Amino acid sequence: MCKTPDSQPYTIDESVHERFDQKKTIFGRIAYDRESRFFGKSIYDNIEAILSKGKEGYSRADLARVMGAWTAYDYFDKAFSWQPLRDANNVLAKPALDTLPVEDAAAMSDMVKETARFYGASDTGIAELNTEWVYACNRKGEPIEIPDQCRFAIVMTIRMDPAAIATSPTFAACAETGLAYSRMAFAIGCLAEFIRNLGYKAIPMGNDTALSIPLAVDAGLGEMGRNGLLVTPEHGPCVRICKVFTDMPLEADRPIDFGLSKFCRTCSMCADACQANAIRTEREPSYDCDPDMNSPGVLRWAVDHEKCFKFWMANGGECSNCIAACPFSHCGKSQ
Ligand code: SF4
Ligand code: SF4
Repeated sequence: MCKTPDSQPYTIDESVHERFDQKKTIFGRIAYDRESRFFGKSIYDNIEAILSKGKEGYSRADLARVMGAWTAYDYFDKAFSWQPLRDANNVLAKPALDTLPVEDAAAMSDMVKETARFYGASDTGIAELNTEWVYACNRKGEPIEIPDQCRFAIVMTIRMDPAAIATSPTFAACAETGLAYSRMAFAIGCLAEFIRNLGYKAIPMGNDTALSIPLAVDAGLGEMGRNGLLVTPEHGPCVRICKVFTDMPLEADRPIDFGLSKFCRTCSMCADACQANAIRTEREPSYDCDPDMNSPGVLRWAVDHEKCFKFWMANGGECSNCIAACPFSHCGKSQ
């Protein structure tokens, strides 16, 4: 049973909290931080050795399927454009129409959610944008500024197949992850163009630009779990998150409380399933974290992303053990 929490869905220590820098994420450090010991590393650094073992679920074809699954997210850059997609020389160019006035923000919010579902979102919530969750800088270290008019974050979840995620950490689970990311690119690209074709701004994003999990919590899609992920009432953490910021007048949803933080205090199935010991096991959440890899000043169980990524490198692909193990994911691993 979900209810609206009496207070904010997270506890913040304002004296230390600051906007996080995406360059500090593992993928920021790999690509752009020459001072980092992760600079230049890749999940695939050990791939030849991994393939040569001939382990079930780690074949050459399995790996090719993983790489194919990521195609839309990694290479369809226009899905992430902050500008309208226009091609004046295209005979199929879309007409430029007047802005559709929004007279009923609630009705338009329903329309946006229904359209997001049409483009592939499993669930959609709307939050008033808290700019504290916008990255201070992108992976390259360039400042990120969201136009003031973009007051709303439309947050979408894309459900992953629990049967595929249950095979984690094999390449079949990695392929499901990549596919969900590519479906994210499809959903945000289409939803952004839908909004622009009504005359409003749209800033689509996957993991870039802003922290997905607190925005999803604000938008009422779930709560943050011990595993550091969004846990939704229906699909647990077996989802990926993408979002579109807009200046379209909308009605915000309220955060939900389905008892997860209480549940996580006595459950440690995700931590037990983590082969990297990257998930904390203390009963209570805390502010204890490494600010070089975690946004500081947020009460939670902070994940050790360096340990996590080292396991990904040893595995030759992403890991979803902490998703598969969560009883809310219904992956069949926790029963
Ligand atoms: S993804 Fe895998 S290695 Fe990383 S925290 Fe989850 S279980 Fe641990
Ligand atoms: S596995 Fe248990 S402790 Fe971990 S996120 Fe899910 S409910 Fe919380």
